[in-house]
Amino acid sequence: MLTSICGINWGDEGKGRMVDLLSEKFDVVCRYQGGNNAGHTVINEKGKFILNLLPSGILRENVVNVMGCGMVIDIKHLCGEIGKLRAAGIRISPENLKISDKAIIVMPYHVLQDVMEEDRLSKATGKPYGSTRRGISPVYSDKYMKKALRMGELLNPELMYKRLPDIVAWKNMTIKAYGFEPITVEDMITYLKTYGEPLKDYVVDTGIYLNEAYNEGKNVMFEAQLGALRDIDYGIVPYTSASSTIAAYAPIGAGVPNLRLTNSIGIMKAYSSCVGAGPFTCEYFGEKAERLRELGGEYGAATGRPRRVGPFDVVASKYGIRCQGADEIALTKLDVLDDYEEIEICSHYKLHGKITDEFPFTDVLDECEPVFEKVKGWHKDITGCRKKEDLPKEALDYIALLEKLCKCRIKYVSVGAERDAYIEMY
Ligand code: GDP
Ligand code: MG
Repeated sequence: MLTSICGINWGDEGKGRMVDLLSEKFDVVCRYQGGNNAGHTVINEKGKFILNLLPSGILRENVVNVMGCGMVIDIKHLCGEIGKLRAAGIRISPENLKISDKAIIVMPYHVLQDVMEEDRLSKATGKPYGSTRRGISPVYSDKYMKKALRMGELLNPELMYKRLPDIVAWKNMTIKAYGFEPITVEDMITYLKTYGEPLKDYVVDTGIYLNEAYNEGKNVMFEAQLGALRDIDYGIVPYTSASSTIAAYAPIGAGVPNLRLTNSIGIMKAYSSCVGAGPFTCEYFGEKAERLRELGGEYGAATGRPRRVGPFDVVASKYGIRCQGADEIALTKLDVLDDYEEIEICSHYKLHGKITDEFPFTDVLDECEPVFEKVKGWHKDITGCRKKEDLPKEALDYIALLEKLCKCRIKYVSVGAERDAYIEMY
């Protein structure tokens, strides 16, 4: 079985905790896109972990974790992440971690480029992209320019070092144009030796491994980072990630373009949050926003940035479900709404006087106004609910309403961050 777990909204839907929960049924967990620009928070009996690069299955004893070719890997960050988990008693070895030889290496100059461009944009236009400044867009650009370094090159470093002088000369043309100090080949070689060398033993052809695993009948889960609205093609460009966050990309980004997904589980939050800049039609402001942000603990896992928040957005979520081809939904953080006597949802957008429930092209999103509707809240603590029957009627009504409006079945509902704080609905 090949299952994709993907984000329906703007990211931070709680994918990490759902993957952690569902990974029990899987033998392999695979990341297939993105880098350390987002964070998954997982809380289990071993502690609280923030994973930026490692697949969430790393916290399970018998799960093999794969980092696919669609990923961009900051090797220094990865060494740090592995070190922290090891210090917490998590076992990490080539047996349970496999990194694609075709995955791309994020270099310090990509991070520098990201910072230089965000700062330039801030000064020139007052409108930076809200990048996480981890070098993700520059490194994906280099991939398409065919100038990126790949993890497999660590196995044959002398060849890679020979490629470096021209790459460094090319990069310095850009760096100098921004008025920054040029980088040196020596520094880059030292960097690759320091942080690349320790990762060498994990590098394999993940396609061979995954095909074998699949043929042996193993269950493989693909874990996405970010959500549909951050996808490079389908998201709110340019306020998106630079990678494909879409479930259909999973087999390609993992190393098995020959295999087809069995199903796609979409992670959807019971309200909305959006980190960084960009159109966010359902956004709350002022006290309303502060209350929801506090209740939901909406601060970035990777950056600590306060997230923008709003009520559940039917228009964006329906679009997200379509993009992800989601067969079923895990609705997360329902307990965050416990405090409300009345709950708002954004049911439609109003664009140029017309009401619509179709997500429009990015350019006109800024002109869309949200249409809010109110439903009755349950106004009760649901964090202890573990069965459908435990949920108050109003909570069941809220779930049923989202199912009806989004035309998708909600299979799981989470009511707390802990591993067991969830309900299987059918
Ligand atoms: P991801 O990027 O999609 O993995 O999500 P994040 O980890 O960035 O954000 C989700 C946050 O919500 C984390 O702090 C989780 O611990 C927390 N969380 C996940 N599920 C629930 C839930 O059902 N209820 C509550 N209250 N918190 C949750
Ligand atoms: Mg996150």
